[in-house]
Amino acid sequence: MRSFRNISIKQKLIIVIIFTSWFTLLVASIAFMAKDIITFRHTLANDISSLAQVIGMNSSGALVFNDPKTAEKNLSALQTKPYVSFACIYDKDGNVFATFPHQIEDYAPVPPMPQKTRHYFENKHLFLFHEILLEEELIGTIFIQYDLEEIRLRVKQSGAIVAAIIAVAFLLAAVLSFLLQRLISEPILNLAQTTRAISQGKDYSIRAKKQGQDEIGTLIDGFNEMLTEIQRRDDELKLHRGHLEEEVAARTAELRTQQKILQKALSRAEQLAVEAEAANRAKSEFLANMSHEIRTPMNAIIGFTDLLDSLITDKSQKNYLESIKSSGKNLLTLINDILDLSKIEAGKMDLHYEPVNPYFIFSEIEQIFSLNISGKGLEFIKDISHDIPESLLLDEVRLRQVLFNLVGNAIKFTEKGYIKLSARRAIKNYEKSAVDLTLAIEDTGIGIDPKFYGNIFEAFKQQDGQSTKRYGGTGLGLAISKRLVEIMGGTLSVRSEPGKGSIFEIALKDVSISATTAKPKKTKMFDHDNISFGKAAMMVVDDIPVNRKLIIEYLKNTDIIIIEADNGEQAILRAQTHKPDIIVMDIKMPVMDGYEAIQYLKKHDDLKRIPVIALTASGMKKDKAKIQASGFDGFLMKPVQLSDLFSELSRFLKFSRKERDGQKSAKGEDTLQQERLSPEILTRMPQIIGDLKGEYMETWKLVRRSGLFDDISNFGKQIKDTGDKYSLKSLQRFGANLILYAGSFDIEKMSAALDSYPELIVKLELLYQEQIRGGRK
Ligand code: ADP
Repeated sequence: MRSFRNISIKQKLIIVIIFTSWFTLLVASIAFMAKDIITFRHTLANDISSLAQVIGMNSSGALVFNDPKTAEKNLSALQTKPYVSFACIYDKDGNVFATFPHQIEDYAPVPPMPQKTRHYFENKHLFLFHEILLEEELIGTIFIQYDLEEIRLRVKQSGAIVAAIIAVAFLLAAVLSFLLQRLISEPILNLAQTTRAISQGKDYSIRAKKQGQDEIGTLIDGFNEMLTEIQRRDDELKLHRGHLEEEVAARTAELRTQQKILQKALSRAEQLAVEAEAANRAKSEFLANMSHEIRTPMNAIIGFTDLLDSLITDKSQKNYLESIKSSGKNLLTLINDILDLSKIEAGKMDLHYEPVNPYFIFSEIEQIFSLNISGKGLEFIKDISHDIPESLLLDEVRLRQVLFNLVGNAIKFTEKGYIKLSARRAIKNYEKSAVDLTLAIEDTGIGIDPKFYGNIFEAFKQQDGQSTKRYGGTGLGLAISKRLVEIMGGTLSVRSEPGKGSIFEIALKDVSISATTAKPKKTKMFDHDNISFGKAAMMVVDDIPVNRKLIIEYLKNTDIIIIEADNGEQAILRAQTHKPDIIVMDIKMPVMDGYEAIQYLKKHDDLKRIPVIALTASGMKKDKAKIQASGFDGFLMKPVQLSDLFSELSRFLKFSRKERDGQKSAKGEDTLQQERLSPEILTRMPQIIGDLKGEYMETWKLVRRSGLFDDISNFGKQIKDTGDKYSLKSLQRFGANLILYAGSFDIEKMSAALDSYPELIVKLELLYQEQIRGGRK
């Protein structure tokens, strides 16, 4: 069957046609032959029966008259039938009466006479019995046996004829099928050839030839339609390919141009990067210079206003001076903020991590701001989780700066309700040696419109429409705070509802837990009031006369003689002549700067032992490092404060401690003692001391608790005013220092100075008692 499937259609068609026609013919011939034989046998039986009937009728007389000879004679008529092999007549009793042929014994035994007329075929013979009746009475029976050889011959002949016909028909079918199959197979072969030609030549314009409207014709139509479609697509593709090539060429050209532009841009970017780096350097340089240039005059402004404050008494002049001072203070804050921001942006803000107790910071904030908060009628809520470790590695100064700013803002923008400071640690890292901290400052103030969330963290940006007069500010606080928190590896975010309040949240990640305990910082502020220098010569080198003047003024009441010099060169010359005990020298100077001068001084045998203290306005860390590396023995930062100057000088000059608690110093000198109290003042002293111990002491307690810069400054002012009023230098100095430290946000010195208030009263009491005693003597 498989092999039949694999042969060609042409062969299949021929085989099918031949086989079908041959088989049909065969079946037809067999049927025809069968019918012929059946008909022949039927006819034969009828013929023999008629013959038997005639012979029987003819022999009825012979039977009646028992004349077998006539009967045999009648039977001999069967001679005309060559295939009659035997016949006989029985009498009515069934005995054989006459036979044909005569010699009966030569034949097989005569079959017994049946009851009725009948015939049957058996053993290639026809056996026929026929009753002989006379007036409807059975008088005998005739039997004829007929040989069927004739039928065999007939079948043989018919078979030969059928075979011949089949053979001829087979040949004819073969010829015809060969001719007819072409009608079907040829168009199919044609189609196959067309397909092959197309697939080999890829020529879709070729079409198959249609030869008729039959199914193959329909197939060819479909095939040709398919070819048309393929050709259309092929053409479109070719068109596209053409376009594509053009497009690729265009794109390549475009890419090349872009590549060139990019290369240019790249080299421009590289150049820009170099320029940017140079610009950045220039910016840092500029900032260093600016810081220097601004701090230098600030040095004079703040220092001299302080000194002036103790000299003038006129109220309006004092007001002017106050304005100068507060403006100076604001300017210094602004400069510090700008410097901070620039440092952060230049990536030069270095953090100093040390073990810090966060609970101290939180308490400090509460203390510092409490007066301000209660002053506004607000409530301060501290919600500190107790699982925060007591010693964490933090940059205390910077964290405090951020918290001060946020709490300060919260107070500034809140009129009623509360300010809440909360601190939490993340639960997840209990096992670790670091914690995640979340510090939040919540207020019930004016709130922030969400559209300003991004803005307010940008430098110099505030909420639109905010009253400058009412709230003031520069818009730098949050910018600095956000960046500082980011440098600490955290985030600063805000949530707020206008009119309801805001929450600023500091999230610090992985804050290390310190192994050592954080100790509360106690500033060892140099108590300059309590020391007096011995006789000494000091050279002050600065190209700006006011700066020299300030130092001279600071040391006015000491035994230190001052030698002045304008620049490094002059300093060297004068040092050779005067051999001072100490030199305080500016760095940036014309003719010869501080670096060059120190080189010379430290190389010169006569001079190298003289300690030289650098005086600089630069806040840059690198400058400080450079100064230290250059051989300077000390370092003072402008604006120079009295206690710093005394502290630095005390490292090199001899001094003695003044008497404390009634004990006199070895030298018996005391600055307080130097204050000669006029008789008029002496009479007022009990009242002054009473005020200092009473009213002012109460304020002092409040201020100390609040720790707010403005409050401290105001307290300083009150004390200083009292000092001015009664020309009490110690009070003037105490007040002036408080104002200065609060103004420059120097918390450490400020709180140390504030702490010394009770001591100041004791000293004044001592002074009063001594002078009373002295007066009596
Ligand atoms: P400044 O306070 O000097 O204006 P900041 O950078 O600290 O600068 O704040 C920027 C602005 O963000 C403020 O001017 C104010 O508009 C808004 N802001 C900050 N904190 C609050 C707050 N707690 N409530 C409402 N607005 C605030």
